[in-house]
Amino acid sequence: MTRNLSILGATGSIGRNTLRIVDRFPNRFSVKALSARSNMTLLADQIERYRPVRVAVGDERCADDLSALLPTDLAVDIVWGESGLCRIAALDDVDLVVTAVVGAAGLLPTLAAIDAGKDIALANKETLVMAGQAVMKRADAEGVRIYPVDSEHSAIFQCLAGNRKTDVDRILLTGSGGPFRAMPLEEFESISIDDALNHPNWQMGRKITIDSASMMNKGLEIIEARWLFDVPLDMIQVVIHPQSIVHSMVAFKDGSVIAQLGVPDMKGAIACALSWPERMDIGQPAPDFPALHQLTFEAPDLEKFPCLRLAMEACAAAGTMPAVLNAANEMAVVAFLDGKIGFTAISELIGMVMENHRWVVHPSLEEIIAADTWARRESERWMKS
Ligand code: NAD
Ligand code: MG
Repeated sequence: MTRNLSILGATGSIGRNTLRIVDRFPNRFSVKALSARSNMTLLADQIERYRPVRVAVGDERCADDLSALLPTDLAVDIVWGESGLCRIAALDDVDLVVTAVVGAAGLLPTLAAIDAGKDIALANKETLVMAGQAVMKRADAEGVRIYPVDSEHSAIFQCLAGNRKTDVDRILLTGSGGPFRAMPLEEFESISIDDALNHPNWQMGRKITIDSASMMNKGLEIIEARWLFDVPLDMIQVVIHPQSIVHSMVAFKDGSVIAQLGVPDMKGAIACALSWPERMDIGQPAPDFPALHQLTFEAPDLEKFPCLRLAMEACAAAGTMPAVLNAANEMAVVAFLDGKIGFTAISELIGMVMENHRWVVHPSLEEIIAADTWARRESERWMKS
């Protein structure tokens, strides 16, 4: 049976990898909708190739640019903005929505997909960081399945399969430690944009690459795991594993640990989300163990990576705090990539914004969005001073 896909963020790293899998299985998947914020040249190529019925772009100007790039006889409905993204997430005929946009922009389209009863392959972790409790509750109520695309969460999902949740002792969330794992703290002041964009194991978009360097990515993943698997913070342990072969593990009550391993390539986790419980032959070899020689593990250094500590604090506080952490981080990452603040100022900014936040314990969705807006303004204020 053909699975009809809507891919939000088709021009990004996860979006392009998803389309590579579609290319391998043209009879299994049909692309009904695509979105891209600003890369209209690539989106036009994708439209000609996959023939979606509707696409969403960043704004009206992008829509005009895109129309000009497409052959006049090609029929595709072009929509734009947040409402456009929500429309392609809820499109009739679509069975599975791949949420691969970056940042808070993923939240409302994910909710729109859930309300329309669509299953979700979730790459956009910021959605669960901001509003994990509300999103999971709504998915549950609508009978919608959320398949994790984040490699760690895909691994945990696979390790949990066939086991009883009541038998879980702890989730062991692995992370490479990023490019600065072994760098002395004194050198952090001089980290350049290029240094931070140079991840040792994974090829990803710019925002998540910076998050990996600051280890905020692991912090966001703790919050993502907390809601996705409905486990308390004290049952999630971060384990640094520089080789990125073990994608995460689950420890059970009897001391037994189940791990999921693979080469560091996102296609494995994406394919899993697209076809679970079936496993597709995506042409990816298993790791070559004799060539690897060794797999190593260590504890994270919270002094060197304060973003990880801040994310744990936000996770423990819950309410609006994770949304504030997320928004301040997005602002800080953009400012760092624009050369406006240094690497160590990322955590300083987030810590300051969190400290000033008037936190709401049981927020509505509106209050979460208001907290996000407030944190962005507060971040700007902090950067100006
Ligand atoms: P990317 O920057 O490569 O691509 C982002 C995509 O989203 C692009 O198509 C872009 O046009 C679109 N987009 C960006 N801002 C938007 C906005 N405001 N509104 C609508 N669309 C917008 O990012 P990526 O690395 O593919 O990551 C996408 C998501 O997947 C992120 O949430 C990231 O944390 C998560 N993720 C990525 C990886 C990875 O290997 N790249 C791994 C795990 C999780
Ligand atoms: Mg990950």
